[in-house]
Amino acid sequence: MYKIMDGKLVSASVKDRIRAEVKELNSNGHQVNLAVIIVGDDPASRVYVNNKKKACEYVGFVSEEYALPVSTSQEELLTLIGELNERRDVNGILCQLPLPPHIDDAAIIAAIAVEKDVDAFSAHNVGKIMIGDYDFVPCTPAGVMKLLSFYDIDVDGKNCVMIGRSNIVGKPMAMLMMHKNGTVTIAHSHTRNLKEITRRADIVVVAVRKVRFLTADMVKEGAVVIDVGMNRDENGKLCGDVDFDSVKEKCSYITPVPGGVGPMTIAMLMQNTLKAFYIQNP
Ligand code: NAP
Repeated sequence: MYKIMDGKLVSASVKDRIRAEVKELNSNGHQVNLAVIIVGDDPASRVYVNNKKKACEYVGFVSEEYALPVSTSQEELLTLIGELNERRDVNGILCQLPLPPHIDDAAIIAAIAVEKDVDAFSAHNVGKIMIGDYDFVPCTPAGVMKLLSFYDIDVDGKNCVMIGRSNIVGKPMAMLMMHKNGTVTIAHSHTRNLKEITRRADIVVVAVRKVRFLTADMVKEGAVVIDVGMNRDENGKLCGDVDFDSVKEKCSYITPVPGGVGPMTIAMLMQNTLKAFYIQNP
């Protein structure tokens, strides 16, 4: 019988702990401030930004939103980031991706001060993850690790398969499982015989951006399956990368979509922002 890994429940416990800490900080005259930049009017980005703002409100952070028109130039965006970098009262800076095509995502990420890079996308912070000495971890992989630890799922010695190798999910996720002594395989679109690889996995994390990609025949009995995907199915319904209804029957633990990794990502953003505050105010 499978168990659901409840991202709403776990994220609520993380946010409640942060909320209590922020209350204490506020009573001592401190404020924690996250600046969120959104360029253009992509509806999915708007939903993500609204959810992040809601979480900031809940935990007691100040959240400054910079909603810029799609015509914003790279120079203008870099100027704004420069100003936010300089401000002592801004602890975290998040620039919602993807940016319009005329703006170079990498240049923007590189411009954010490393101690305010709460998404942990910069080369500096990514490099620190690589060597296992990090302050910030990208929010989605951090959220998955938190779910695993909450449900007492030990990664040590397990066969872990990460399907997907993006910079924001797949690569850091694989690294974190390796730091916890998992034996990690990273699969991607050139991987041959994927099913043979996933059928040996104790833990499978899927981030491929494809509706119902992971099917029951790809999973061994008793596996832990983590679905990072956030897609719309043929009826416009939010769904993940896992064929949940069939796969769940073979799992010991599985995350749902929605209500699994998504809420964890936001809770980890709050955690990173609070950490940024402490780093900047030792
Ligand atoms: P991405 O940048 O589009 O990367 C997708 C990865 O999947 C690539 O590495 C690609 O391989 C691999 N892939 C594609 N087809 C494959 C196949 N047939 N077999 C094996 N691998 C295959 O995606 P992402 O940014 O990592 O996001 C992945 C999913 O997670 C999306 O649905 C996204 O919306 C979701 N997401 C959710 C959250 C959350 O908070 N829940 C956060 C971030 C992302 P190649 O490298 O070879 O092309």
